[in-house]
Amino acid sequence: MRNLRSALQQAQQNGVAIGHFNIADSVQLNAVFACAQELNVPVLIGVSEGEREFIGVSQIAALVRSLREEFDFPIFLNADHTHSLAKAIAAARAGFDAIVFDLSALPFEENVRQTKQAVGDLKTINPDILVEGEVGDIGTGSEIHDAAPDLAKGLTTPAEAKEFVESTGIDILAPAVGNMHGMLKSMVRGEMKKHLDISRIAQIKSAARVPLTLHGGSGTDDEHFRKAIAAGINIVHINTELRVAWRRGLEEGLAKQPQEVVPYKILPFAVEAMKQVVRARLNLFNGVRNQQRLSARLSQALPGTVGH
Ligand SMILES: [Zn+2]
Repeated sequence: MRNLRSALQQAQQNGVAIGHFNIADSVQLNAVFACAQELNVPVLIGVSEGEREFIGVSQIAALVRSLREEFDFPIFLNADHTHSLAKAIAAARAGFDAIVFDLSALPFEENVRQTKQAVGDLKTINPDILVEGEVGDIGTGSEIHDAAPDLAKGLTTPAEAKEFVESTGIDILAPAVGNMHGMLKSMVRGEMKKHLDISRIAQIKSAARVPLTLHGGSGTDDEHFRKAIAAGINIVHINTELRVAWRRGLEEGLAKQPQEVVPYKILPFAVEAMKQVVRARLNLFNGVRNQQRLSARLSQALPGTVGH
């Protein structure tokens, strides 16, 4: 499993999905990597434009590359939601394995035209880079939202998925199938779960015939995750759950040691909280049994953190 393409093929064959976790610093990166190592499953590290600006484009590329090489481990790096060709090119030059080129806010024809151009330019820099395109509306911001957007209007149709993939030459498609970025407060409290349009995923898969990514996975019902993966989802993005756990862990570390100033004595609380989320999600996405126990652990890790 030396590259992301072969890891995706393996996931498709095994009926599992690769977990994708967004990070903004090395503390989060190490928490994600520790869980992937523990379970011995491939993992994708995602950095959005904002996250890249914070950690540094070439710095995160060097960090992920060093983990991959030192531990001979299938950890890969994705430039999540990249809205300009210049930023996509910067990530490709830094050695990212994949780029989400996201012009889904533009009209369909313009999204096709510019994404096709980007695929050509990025493959010239690195022929092995995987380019993901997006059609439909899955909302913005992996944060805690007060109200849900109207997702029904922006769902991807199988016909446009097929046309988009064939016209642009993208390697991976991100469809809108009932998923959304961020979580509602009720989801953070564990009172409400996201539900997915499973039959739409299956129809898009058979029409588009490429790996599919589920964005905005945080707060999704476990059974819907399982069915979505069986229907053709190959990558699942988790960001908000990790951010919520990070904050809860950090608050715990600070509260328990009010006089402490040593970062490596405070931050392990954040690492432990994030590891509970990552471990549970990786187990679920990779079809590991004993899910009830893991889900219980996840719901302990998440509620009661934000919004009060
Ligand atoms: Zn996303």
